[in-house]
Amino acid sequence: MSGHSKDLSRPTPFGELVASPVVGVETVHGHQGLRLEEPLLFEIDNTGAEGVDLPPPPVTENRLGGLERSSAIGLPSASEPEIVRHFTRLSQKNYAIDMGTYPLGSCTMKHNPRLNEKMVRLSGFANLHPLQPESTVQGALELIDTLAHWLKELTGMPAVAMSPAAGAHGELCGVMAIRAALDAREGGQTTRRRILVPDSAHGTNPATAAVCGFAVDAIPSDARGRVDVKAFSDKLDDDVAGIMITNPNTCGLFENDMIEIARLIHDVGGYFYCDGANFNAIVGRVRPGDLGIDCMHINLHKTFSTPHGGGGPGAGPVVLSEALAPFAPTPWVVHDGNGYALVEHAADAGEARPFGRLKGFHGQMGMFVRAYAYMLSHGRDGLRQVASDAVLNANYVMSQLSDVMTAAFDGPCMHECLFDDRFLKDSGVTTLDFAKAMIDEGYHPMTMYFPLVVHGAMLIEPTETESKRELDNFVSVVRALVARVQAGESDAFAAAPRLTPRRRLDETTAARRPILRWTPDVPTVEAAE
Ligand SMILES: *Cc1c(COP(=O)(O)O)cnc(C)c1O
Repeated sequence: MSGHSKDLSRPTPFGELVASPVVGVETVHGHQGLRLEEPLLFEIDNTGAEGVDLPPPPVTENRLGGLERSSAIGLPSASEPEIVRHFTRLSQKNYAIDMGTYPLGSCTMKHNPRLNEKMVRLSGFANLHPLQPESTVQGALELIDTLAHWLKELTGMPAVAMSPAAGAHGELCGVMAIRAALDAREGGQTTRRRILVPDSAHGTNPATAAVCGFAVDAIPSDARGRVDVKAFSDKLDDDVAGIMITNPNTCGLFENDMIEIARLIHDVGGYFYCDGANFNAIVGRVRPGDLGIDCMHINLHKTFSTPHGGGGPGAGPVVLSEALAPFAPTPWVVHDGNGYALVEHAADAGEARPFGRLKGFHGQMGMFVRAYAYMLSHGRDGLRQVASDAVLNANYVMSQLSDVMTAAFDGPCMHECLFDDRFLKDSGVTTLDFAKAMIDEGYHPMTMYFPLVVHGAMLIEPTETESKRELDNFVSVVRALVARVQAGESDAFAAAPRLTPRRRLDETTAARRPILRWTPDVPTVEAAE
């Protein structure tokens, strides 16, 4: 949409000036100081250049029967330095937790201690192969087993499935275990059709229920931002398979009625799924098992500080109650006097009735090592303090902003604070504009328009790893932006971001009509914007 950016798509011949992101400054290539423009890999194609010299392939018998390609497939070529520069430049276009405060609510973008990285690079872990004989990976299996033990301790649950590769994958694991338990109880396919999900839920909750073949029945939130227990109990019937509740919930609030909800759902024969993505707010302080839940995924990449963003990898182990434990997916680690071993097949599972397998091999080993190192370095008291500090920091930010912004709910929050857009009313500035203006100030925006139950939501999760000084810097920037709103500078907000490599994008077109394939003729930047 922004007028100038089309010209920035690729290097231009020398001599032709290109408008750069800082309005009014033009440069030959579109580079600006040390911030470099970067064309697509296909556009830097340097045909014939090679990063490695491979020996000519030995002549082998052709068994393709005439189906072999007759033309080149058109992969770009580049030399090793060209490739290194391309990907290094691209990497520098990312905002990262290592660059500054990253207050993206619900995502827990906290510092990843370098000790974790050092441990995961120990060659005994870094060079493992999942098909190695068990006798050669005893240490790795012990680590998985010990991590599993600690997760059970921290949650007060008797079993854990370690293999899910992310939170959403853990949800799939939990709901598949629920379905397997119901099928087993009913001696065939369960007739229970509904899963109850609060209207404030993360999108992965209803998506998981739907993928598993259940109908999603939304429960309204009450005026306190919590599950409306009356509305919930009115929906209960013997066709309910279960409920999925996030605690602390996506409004950053503790669900106070968990025990009552557990009793009610169990009374009608359903199961209680808890979305544990926000476990960092209660780790070491509340054991979800004591609240009566049947399963919960834990995002190791949130609570236990393994790197995330940009699509992974994550790890989403699922703790399970006595009722669901028999249905946990393979594989799992067992040990006896002879050492550690993996149970890989249902036939070796004894009494258990695993619903199947969710993932090739044994889980995200690199994430296990990092989470293990994090737990070991924090200890019992340190993990408790993680939760306390996460909650303290969020309440500090809330207290520093509540007089100029509008908190969505009264009272203190847990690990994230939620504002709505009432403070922007009649200003001509939207939540989106406000978030874009934060980018110009060098901050990743807070989560916007989520949870859906709050109008124009802005969800701020500072995490426990920000110092008071960093929080004060963040608060002062947000307050200064609010002052600009009050001063009537809506045009400046509508024009933000002004200092990024690309300006305001047409996000709807990008989402609805993404152009995923490069062809020499299509002006790609124009198409994406
Ligand atoms: C992050 C998150 C998820 C999904 O976790 P992924 O690891 O991104 O799949 C689910 N629910 C809530 C509340 C979350 O914050």
